[in-house]
Amino acid sequence: MKAKEITCDVLVAGAGISGVAAAISASRQQAKTILIEKNGFPGGIAVDCQHRYICGLYPKNTGIAQDIILGLQKLNPKNRFIRMGKLSVFSFAPKNLELILRKLIQREKNLKVLYNCTVTQVKKEKGSIVSVKAAQKPLNRILNFMPRTVIDASGQGIVIKLGKAQYKLAPLKCRQLAGFTFEVRGLIDASDLLAIKVPYYLSIWVKQKKLPAYFKFTNFADGQTKNSGMIKLNLPAKNTSQPAQEAKKYASLIHAYLRKVIPEFRNSRIHRVSSDIHEREGLRLYGEHILTKEEVLSARKFPDSIAKGCWPIEFWHPEKGQQIKYLGPNRFYQIPLGCLKSKNITNLFATGKCISATPQALASSRVMGTCIYLGEAAGRAAGPTT
Ligand SMILES: Cc1cc2nc3c(=O)[nH]c(=O)nc-3n(C[C@H](O)[C@H](O)[C@H](O)COP(=O)(O)OP(=O)(O)OC[C@H]3O[C@@H](n4cnc5c(N)ncnc54)[C@H](O)[C@@H]3O)c2cc1C
Repeated sequence: MKAKEITCDVLVAGAGISGVAAAISASRQQAKTILIEKNGFPGGIAVDCQHRYICGLYPKNTGIAQDIILGLQKLNPKNRFIRMGKLSVFSFAPKNLELILRKLIQREKNLKVLYNCTVTQVKKEKGSIVSVKAAQKPLNRILNFMPRTVIDASGQGIVIKLGKAQYKLAPLKCRQLAGFTFEVRGLIDASDLLAIKVPYYLSIWVKQKKLPAYFKFTNFADGQTKNSGMIKLNLPAKNTSQPAQEAKKYASLIHAYLRKVIPEFRNSRIHRVSSDIHEREGLRLYGEHILTKEEVLSARKFPDSIAKGCWPIEFWHPEKGQQIKYLGPNRFYQIPLGCLKSKNITNLFATGKCISATPQALASSRVMGTCIYLGEAAGRAAGPTT
């Protein structure tokens, strides 16, 4: 099949929270921008896993972060900053996020978004990317983009990998636990106690060796409607051809057990499951600078800073579960442009989950708030046409 050729200034691969911010930002630099996304919706993991809190945001924001916050507040006044222990998070109704991202994308006159469009090939010449091929369903089209600059916002470093940029990827057994979410409806008298009861009963099953050990790290949170709840399994990323199928089987098994042992679950049913197991840590660019744990914890500043991070290091250890190291009150670290720039490909930037960082540093910088700041900075760096 002949590929349709398309030229643009900036091509953004992946419309997760960071890719959307990058594409809007590049478009605001007057760059002719194309955003391609393999799913049929924007928001990536945050929408697919039905996140409820934007972590890592500052109370005062400008730019795209502010647009997202104001948009969410306008849709529902209950979307607001709240205190969670030592930290501040922005609480939102998950269905509102997709809506607001679509609205912000639509407003941009230099931005075109193509959904159901998957990057499949990257062609490089003399150390720079000359074209990126993508397959678009259900039209069965092959598109060949010829961009001036590419931003990899795929969360999985797909352009980095296909373009043979230098990267780091920890072996599966050392990687942080990934996540798989399912929503349960029909709970009877759901109360805050379920957040304690669910992990408690699952840890009993783990002790009896009926479930793998990592299921004791399962979380429960209230759902969007009365009598609904979200169960988040924290499990290792799997090297199987159908990891999501395996996670779905576990979700059914765990739900059947909870129905037996917790009265609130007796008449409940699984309403929705996430489409995949989502990795917290995957392929990371090996960039001009590698952000480290020491830089995060010492709140390091850089002369070429492009974004700041304030979230603690929230490392999901494969055997010990969630481990948190705080930065200290009102402290923040900066992220230099070098964390977004490829070492060996001149026109490639990374943003969001695949920036150049060690696993420990990424355990802080991967949260949604920081991903928005990073995306906006990537678009600003890639956007200008001169
Ligand atoms: C289980 C779990 C729970 C979390 N909870 C929270 C939380 O409560 N609050 C918080 O702030 N953060 C949370 N995080 C972190 C945060 O959600 C993510 O790190 C962040 O959303 C990543 O954004 P991103 O844009 O970099 O990547 P993603 O959200 O992964 O977006 C990447 C996009 O690229 C697309 N893509 C991938 N491959 C291709 C391809 N070949 N072609 C085209 N498109 C492609 C994907 O479909 C996706 O839409 C959580 C993470 C996990 C895994």
